[in-house]
Amino acid sequence: METIDLKAILKTVKRISIFSHVRPDGDAIGSSLGLQRILHTNTGLPVYLYCPDVIPAKYDFLPGVEQFLRELEGSVEQDLVFVLDCSDLDRLDYLKEKIQQHPRLINIDHHVTNDFFGKYNLVDTRAAATGEMLYQLSRAWGFHVDFEAALCLYSAIVSDTGSFKYDNTTPETLRITAELLQKGVQPSLVSQRLFDERPYTTLALLGEALKSLTLDQDDKIAWMSIDDDGIEKCGAKPEELDGFVNYLRDIENVEVGIFFYHARVGNTKVGFRSKSMDVARIASAFGGGGHPRAAGCTVEDEPSMVIKRVLNAVHAFVDEQQKERLIR
Ligand code: 5GP
Ligand code: MN
Repeated sequence: METIDLKAILKTVKRISIFSHVRPDGDAIGSSLGLQRILHTNTGLPVYLYCPDVIPAKYDFLPGVEQFLRELEGSVEQDLVFVLDCSDLDRLDYLKEKIQQHPRLINIDHHVTNDFFGKYNLVDTRAAATGEMLYQLSRAWGFHVDFEAALCLYSAIVSDTGSFKYDNTTPETLRITAELLQKGVQPSLVSQRLFDERPYTTLALLGEALKSLTLDQDDKIAWMSIDDDGIEKCGAKPEELDGFVNYLRDIENVEVGIFFYHARVGNTKVGFRSKSMDVARIASAFGGGGHPRAAGCTVEDEPSMVIKRVLNAVHAFVDEQQKERLIR
């Protein structure tokens, strides 16, 4: 991985801005808040936080979460700019155009599909989470990580590892997590807020989505879909769909789970999960990206056409992968 002389770069700026992606997840939110806290307490500089979407309510317990902005606070031209957990700048939605040519843009990410959009690119595809990288980088940069920052980075790591269940969890992930716990983080409290408790409307929404559950291709593919009418019927918000796609992958014998969310604005957000196949390749073919076992894309077409096109691509992919396995 590239190394940068952050201390030297910091001497040239008076402000810092941190950006993260649309439909922010625990890694995006925890990493942004953790880095903000670390940079502010160690440098004294003002640090602004940007995300092009609302922050889901379940993250309300994270210190500083109320500071996220959806529009720029003044000009960022003179700032040092960090973009976290984004494989490409399209993940910043309408905020992309404000920073795409920025001369001091640091891209910190762990996606295999990262396209090195930054002036500086700190990309480590072996890292379980961007939050894990930020802890390592903070150590390398000689920054102190306090309890609040540790809580945010822990939340980032526990989110992207599915509570240390996914195969991105490494010995280094657990060593870093141990250091975060030593700073006072209580895993049970974080787990309760992020995974074990949900609003009633989320369960109603799951019930609504499950009505469309379909098994395909000898039960190797499971998919379901929902649209804004279905979400409103349950009194729920789109952010409550987060994690539904995991239920599909968890079905016995299913290899690929696909969740379709048809938004009223005219596009469909597609989420992929797999047990062993590289679904980032499928998502990339539709202009998205992600990780080998968890990826996504946004497709602009009629809802029924999106489902047809994506299922065709996944069928062909699963067929091809199965043939390869038989040959090997
Ligand atoms: P999820 O299905 O939870 O929204 O996303 C799973 C993974 O795929 C995440 O790592 C996320 O960054 C990535 N991902 C989801 N949607 C998109 C997309 O539209 N574009 C790209 N490049 N990555 C995506
Ligand atoms: Mn991540």
